[in-house]
Amino acid sequence: MKISSINSSKPSFGYDKRLNKSLQTQLGKCKNTVMSQTIASLNDYCNLVEDNLREEEKKNGPKTSLYQDLQDMLSTSKQMLSGFVSFTFPKLRYPDREYAHYNREFVKNGSQKDDWRADVMEALSEWTESELSKSKTGQSNNPKDELYQPKFDEDGMEITDDPKKDLINKISGALSGKDKSLLEEFKPSATSPKGFQDVAGMDKLKKDLNNGIIQFINNPEQAKIDFEEYGKSIPKSLLLYGPPGCGKTYITQALSGEIDTPMYMLNISKAGSEYINMTAKNLKSAFDAAIRISEKQQKPVLVFMDEIDSLGFDRGAQTWPEDIKQVATMLQCIDQVKQSNVIIIGATNKYNILDPAIRRRFDSKVFVDIPDKDAIQTLLIKNLAPLSKGQKLLSSPDDLKTITNQLYGFSNSSICIISKQAALNAMERDRADISVDDYLKAIKETGEEKPDRKQYLAETKTKSAKIGFGS
Ligand code: ADP
Repeated sequence: MKISSINSSKPSFGYDKRLNKSLQTQLGKCKNTVMSQTIASLNDYCNLVEDNLREEEKKNGPKTSLYQDLQDMLSTSKQMLSGFVSFTFPKLRYPDREYAHYNREFVKNGSQKDDWRADVMEALSEWTESELSKSKTGQSNNPKDELYQPKFDEDGMEITDDPKKDLINKISGALSGKDKSLLEEFKPSATSPKGFQDVAGMDKLKKDLNNGIIQFINNPEQAKIDFEEYGKSIPKSLLLYGPPGCGKTYITQALSGEIDTPMYMLNISKAGSEYINMTAKNLKSAFDAAIRISEKQQKPVLVFMDEIDSLGFDRGAQTWPEDIKQVATMLQCIDQVKQSNVIIIGATNKYNILDPAIRRRFDSKVFVDIPDKDAIQTLLIKNLAPLSKGQKLLSSPDDLKTITNQLYGFSNSSICIISKQAALNAMERDRADISVDDYLKAIKETGEEKPDRKQYLAETKTKSAKIGFGS
């Protein structure tokens, strides 16, 4: 097996002989001959492309278009190979060992200069010396060939007592520019909502959340009776979907204030690692961490997953084994939290590309619409009330109505942006009172666009079922 970074912009360092041997052994034992032959051919193909790539690099350097094309071919085929190998022989821990080898070679070749190298060297700083000395003395640096079992610290975050594993984590984080803290605790700020009183409109959703989740948590005695009499239980997963900027994140933050429960944002862009096989593992450890936190604190924990579609997309449209695997992991994670005290709230602007099985797994699905006119008025008042130059407009119901009509169709987020711009417009007019014209000008200046509400609604046939029956 030849080694090259999965990322085509990184250099390649040649074979990891031990890994190659382990793979050959596994292929020899594999009962599924079609799969083993396919993997073997793909491996040969990767080696051929890599040979050609090295040749071209030696002859003409790395800047030629042939070199770039070969790198693209290598990167794509290596991804496929890694996906198939880790799918078929998970115990081989193929991607982890590829990285380990890559990193050792990288350390050995550390004299070459590259921009990204500095990041990696920093991550390596503690380990460089020892790894170098070990490789010089011929000692093996390969991690033990066993399945990785994550461990967690007091806060439920993953730790490791395996320095090599730590090394791999650090390097893969540094190479991708991402750290591994996937669960970010939401810390309320001056502008974040403290409870539902700060959320404009969304009355039905507030009522449903109140009946479905808040009462259940704040009044466990009543919850017990509701369960005994009607089978009502707390939903463990809720999917909010609809146009961006309409308050999916905002209302979840408010919910965490209402039930005085910690909220963690699962950072999908970090979970979605470009490194093969890391995504599913990242997801799993993030959910495990959330469960541990709720167990430790003995209270429910909210996990908010924004842009859930970026991981849980429709498997029908995907061909990469890794993509399929991460959807499967997501399904497992959602099932797993049903036994725990964690409530997942997923959010997406792209309901239609979300994997149907993931959609089905959510106990409740709620369309978060653009604000209606009452909600727009409330939001306007909320924006203007703290401003002394907004008081005149506030005291004029007709003007407020005119602005409301103009703002109908925009998202909450756009309305907040337009309001800020309107205030600046008034300031530019010799610090005048904020007026209707300032708003009209701001609508044009900000270039905010009205989302196509019908398109979002057409994406789903889901009716608005009640929140409150967990499966
Ligand atoms: P989404 O998650 O649906 O894309 P957000 O919840 O991030 O949208 O909303 C973006 C911003 O719009 C929020 O930070 C907040 O300032 C404002 N906002 C959204 N909904 C509301 C609301 N109902 N009341 C007050 N402000 C809101």
